[in-house]
Amino acid sequence: MHNAILPGILRINDEMVALRRQLHAHPELGFEEFNTRRLVMEKLQGWGYQLTEGIGGTGVVATLQCGRGPTIGLRADMDALPIQEETGLPWASQIDGKMHACGHDGHTAILLAAACELARSRRFAGTLHLIFQPAEEGHGGSGAKRMLDDGLFRRFPCDAIFALHNMPGIPLGKLGFRAGAFMASTDTITILIHGTGGHGAMPQRAVDPVVVAASLVLALQTIVSRNVPPLETAVLTVGAILAGEAANVIPASAELRLTVRALNPAVRELLHQRIHQLAEQHAAGFGARAEVQFQHGYPVLVNDDVITQQAMLLASEWLGAGNVIADLAPLTGSEDFAYWLEQVPGCYFIVGNGDGDGGCMVHNPGYDFNDEALPLAASFWVRLVEHWLGPATTA
Ligand SMILES: [Zn+2]
Ligand SMILES: [Zn+2]
Repeated sequence: MHNAILPGILRINDEMVALRRQLHAHPELGFEEFNTRRLVMEKLQGWGYQLTEGIGGTGVVATLQCGRGPTIGLRADMDALPIQEETGLPWASQIDGKMHACGHDGHTAILLAAACELARSRRFAGTLHLIFQPAEEGHGGSGAKRMLDDGLFRRFPCDAIFALHNMPGIPLGKLGFRAGAFMASTDTITILIHGTGGHGAMPQRAVDPVVVAASLVLALQTIVSRNVPPLETAVLTVGAILAGEAANVIPASAELRLTVRALNPAVRELLHQRIHQLAEQHAAGFGARAEVQFQHGYPVLVNDDVITQQAMLLASEWLGAGNVIADLAPLTGSEDFAYWLEQVPGCYFIVGNGDGDGGCMVHNPGYDFNDEALPLAASFWVRLVEHWLGPATTA
């Protein structure tokens, strides 16, 4: 066991690992984390936290004030995924078709372990909000967004916010950071092309939406290659084309479904503008009409430069620079903590989950959160709070 782990965390480690496995065996999907919420609240209540529930459905905010000082918010996500578990572990999911395949059971247990120690030691001056969030996976909508809509930061203002995520493949005992844009925005776009249907033998009497769609798929590829600056990241994938049925019938309409991703809000905006423009005008060039529908997903996750630097320095001093990855490559995955970082500065960082047996990535039916990552991550939460809020004042 790493010697940086706090003795207070070490003392409760077995209990927290047992809790993590209990959560793992009983996974709940987004906005249905009733059992998880009950377990979380029971623990926090016992340690003297002031609890507020009903924020973002099954969300819970636990507050602990200790003297006067700034306010910090730490977030753990609680939801599982609609995946059939295949680990065969003794604590494997007991619920068919549901699984903690992203390690949110671990994140919840980590934050609870830190909560226990922080309530005991109280070596900080300020206010601590522990935010237990539902539905990070977007199953039924974004839990982070729903908590915001319910006035999260109006009711619980924070000076800085933090969240962590485990990452298989990053060695156990290591923490990873990246200042600035770290995870991609993700939007779904539907383009409906309205033509004029007709007989397949008489195309001159129709406006063929299939030809428009085919041409538009290729034209859309020029947005990334010709409009996005070469050193920026962008993805535009046409994942579905739906049109027609019979070989001798020209259908009246066609539909394209796209996913677009970016690591810069300006590029995200550019993608939207160009897709809109190109679809409408390209279709018009054929005498058809395009209708573009945007379904906004999670925004770009942008870590605050200064706060990320501070957290990284703290981790380096504490764990040694060799255990800190200072410049993780950005990820094209997305994360709804990004909504909060648009309003409050903060840092989302990575905790090594190790390679394990088989070394499964998250969202894989063979994945499991690595319990050995728990005490280190919980200790870092405690250190971060003490560092960020400063030492307790003896009044
Ligand atoms: Zn996930
Ligand atoms: Zn996750």
